[in-house]
Amino acid sequence: MKKVFCIGELLIDFVAEKQGSDLSKATYFTKKAGGAPANVACAIAKLGGRSVFIGSVGDDPFGTFLLDVLRENRVDVSLAQRTETFTTLAFVSLAENGERDFVFSRGADKELQYNSAIKSEFAGNLIHLGAATALLGGKLEEAYGHYFFDGLTKKSFISFDPNYRADLWKNKQQNFAKKCMTFVEKADLCKFSLEEAQLLSGKEDVAEACRFLHEVGTNIIAVTLGASGTLISTREFQETVPSIKVKAVDTTGAGDAFIGCLLQQIAALTNTDSLAGDRDLLVSMVAKANKAGAITTTNYGAIESLPDQEQLSA
Ligand code: ATP
Repeated sequence: MKKVFCIGELLIDFVAEKQGSDLSKATYFTKKAGGAPANVACAIAKLGGRSVFIGSVGDDPFGTFLLDVLRENRVDVSLAQRTETFTTLAFVSLAENGERDFVFSRGADKELQYNSAIKSEFAGNLIHLGAATALLGGKLEEAYGHYFFDGLTKKSFISFDPNYRADLWKNKQQNFAKKCMTFVEKADLCKFSLEEAQLLSGKEDVAEACRFLHEVGTNIIAVTLGASGTLISTREFQETVPSIKVKAVDTTGAGDAFIGCLLQQIAALTNTDSLAGDRDLLVSMVAKANKAGAITTTNYGAIESLPDQEQLSA
């Protein structure tokens, strides 16, 4: 089983307990571990895979909490860093009009220092780049770019998820799309939401958007479509793989569970060179990953709702 190096942010989500009010009125918050790349690392490890998290948290009690959560989920945190800057915090509430009210206090995640010694470990393994905060600048963006090129040099299988957050890129969407293109050009696998596929390609139609993004470079694209499943696209075929029917209560982390499950399966392959040409294999892997995404929606929270192999095969 190959390792999957998940690179990006790990932060505290303070979720307002009383939904329906904006942050100015919220009084009680629940502390949750968050950050898409960290969720993906947990999803892989919970399914029995080997994941390594590379990111930075503060040398404070919140940083300790976050690393403990990852360890409890069997994620290797030996390459995680701690800095003097406070741990990154996000405060979230769902306002009465259904809009997400969001305050982001960016701290330690942006301080990730590039470590050239890790490069040799990338050979023969997978790298997952989750870009939610990584393209916002700071040392993290620099380290992120270096690790991406190290992965290319070492011929790692590279997965990219833009994790677009409208709150973080107000009025700068085109800048975000442009930065993402460097990764789309060379990544083996890209995971997009419908909104991301449209934003990055400038095409409304999802099939057309994927064709455009294959032209840019990437061989395999998975566009997650919520309850409708996932469109899997390569240069040879496009197929929408349905999800399973569930009673969804909270969709947080479904996308991370999906890509985590897909990567855990890819990490078990001895050779990934012909993956893009193997339609049956890709479709069966996506069907399983859809199931992981669906199961995650049946409980509240992200990491605590991720399935293990037993739940997946039930
Ligand atoms: P995120 O917001 O967590 O980044 P995303 O928008 O990328 O997520 P979704 O499309 O919400 O991801 O979900 C990922 C996958 O999980 C879907 O492709 C689908 O297979 C499954 N899924 C999500 N919501 C549901 C649902 N309500 N019913 C069944 N399956 C679902």
